[in-house]
Amino acid sequence: MIRIGIGYDLHRLIPGRPLVLGGVTIPHEKGLAGHSDADALCHAVTDAVLGALALGDIGGHFPDTDPRYGNANSLQLLEAVVRLAHNTGYRVVNVDANIIVQRPKMQPYIDAMRQRLAEALQTDKARVSVKAKTNENVGPEGREEAISAEAVVLLESG
Ligand code: MG
Repeated sequence: MIRIGIGYDLHRLIPGRPLVLGGVTIPHEKGLAGHSDADALCHAVTDAVLGALALGDIGGHFPDTDPRYGNANSLQLLEAVVRLAHNTGYRVVNVDANIIVQRPKMQPYIDAMRQRLAEALQTDKARVSVKAKTNENVGPEGREEAISAEAVVLLESG
């Protein structure tokens, strides 16, 4: 049995916050607004795993009204969802993800993101793809008002 899931997330870019994507803190003059660490890539992957399991979404499992998740490390939320998958008999086959970000350049950090995500997903880095696209200076990502991410995940049982 295989199951596929899709995830998407967007956070606004604001001054005075760290920029965390895929569990990696990236030097930049702005960071992502949010209740948790606002790691949009991690959130998209987490939602993709939940989607594959048809178990709702990240907001339902980790409500942003719950003080326990204030400044939460999103890799830990992903780890919790992967435990849920394992408990229902599923493991990760592979993940493919896009980050839509005008600036800063993601390339120096992609390898570390793949490694962190693979650890949280309890899989091999070779099964985790992360790509980055600019938005050609248009739209909220292109105007550097926000960063978004999308992900697909394949799970298999047995
Ligand atoms: Mg989010």
